[in-house]
Amino acid sequence: MPKRKLSNETVPGDISKSELPLNPATKKIRTSKAKGKPPPPRYGERPESLWKVGAHVSAAGGIENAIINAAAIGANSFALFVKSQRKWTSPALTEATISSFKAGLIEHGYEPRHILPHGSYLINLGNPDAEKRQKSYDCFLDDLKRCEALGIVLYNFHPGSSVGQATTKESISLIAASINEAHRATKSVVTVLENMAGAGNIIGGDFKHLADIIGEVEDKTRVGVCLDTCHMFSAGYDLRTKEGWDKIVADFDAQVGLSYLRGMHLNDSKTEFNSKRDRHENIGMGRIGILGFHHILNDTRFQDIPLILETPSFEKPEVWAKEIAALNGLSGASADGLEVVVGGVEEVVKKAGGGVVKPKPKKAPKKAATKGKKKAKGKDLEQEDEDEEEEEEE
Ligand SMILES: [Zn+2]
Ligand SMILES: [Zn+2]
Repeated sequence: MPKRKLSNETVPGDISKSELPLNPATKKIRTSKAKGKPPPPRYGERPESLWKVGAHVSAAGGIENAIINAAAIGANSFALFVKSQRKWTSPALTEATISSFKAGLIEHGYEPRHILPHGSYLINLGNPDAEKRQKSYDCFLDDLKRCEALGIVLYNFHPGSSVGQATTKESISLIAASINEAHRATKSVVTVLENMAGAGNIIGGDFKHLADIIGEVEDKTRVGVCLDTCHMFSAGYDLRTKEGWDKIVADFDAQVGLSYLRGMHLNDSKTEFNSKRDRHENIGMGRIGILGFHHILNDTRFQDIPLILETPSFEKPEVWAKEIAALNGLSGASADGLEVVVGGVEEVVKKAGGGVVKPKPKKAPKKAATKGKKKAKGKDLEQEDEDEEEEEEE
């Protein structure tokens, strides 16, 4: 929260006021304890808003760094990985890390319900192969325990895939059984199912899948849903118009129940409506367009839950800072003239090295391996990573 304003209200000669805020270095001492350590850079201010817009920030160098990274871009919520998302196991969290994470949350004023960690991409609780599923479950349970140790109350994950070896219904039952077992093995963390883009054997493209999983979860107080805008759009839920948005929310409420909604991922889509593909684009620059996000940021039912960006940032914090500011600017704004908002984002994205719209060729068979590598060098690695997971699995 902006506790202070860098004041231009200071009356010349009024010493009591002028000595106050003019030197950010002295003001920041509390934050960056160590003397001589410069204050962390700031890319955006955190506005007072009932919509908690944030981003999936890096926790590199220590999980407590995620908090600093979130605050620096003006995020009022954030997501993170609680361990490496690419490995089955990671070293245990140390007491020092846990206490500095908890202290960081208090210092920066983040409520636990506004933090939405993302589970490892390796986890597939819907796999009918018992051995593989057990491996996933162990990783899942470890993630949940890390959340509890850190005082995090939500945990978002992809429901899973039948890998073509089971029916959707069977896979759904397997997923629910793992959730039940994990609930018994932990105390309080809420397992939050994510809707998916609807490709192949992946569970969760249809709201009905989420409802069916929840239907088999014993402790309903510990299960929730995170809705990803890119995924819903690709799965055939059209949020571009206000009528479309209202229908999506009504359908979700009827099938799943709005009370289960614990967070959202705000991503535009590189691919067209109903494409069943998962390609995140920067806000307002994709096929959804800025109006789709205007509906959300003006819908009071979506207040007070984490609204997390997973857009390509090109490792430039300015990108998310700009997108967060743009999204916050949508609430209360008239729907006319929103192009200005998009323009601002586009400019920053282009400066960061993005914004070249290259429709990805259809997943080429086999020989694409080297090509893929070349492309990965360029940009949005994070998204490429998540995307891979959405493709058909073996
Ligand atoms: Zn996800
Ligand atoms: Zn995605």
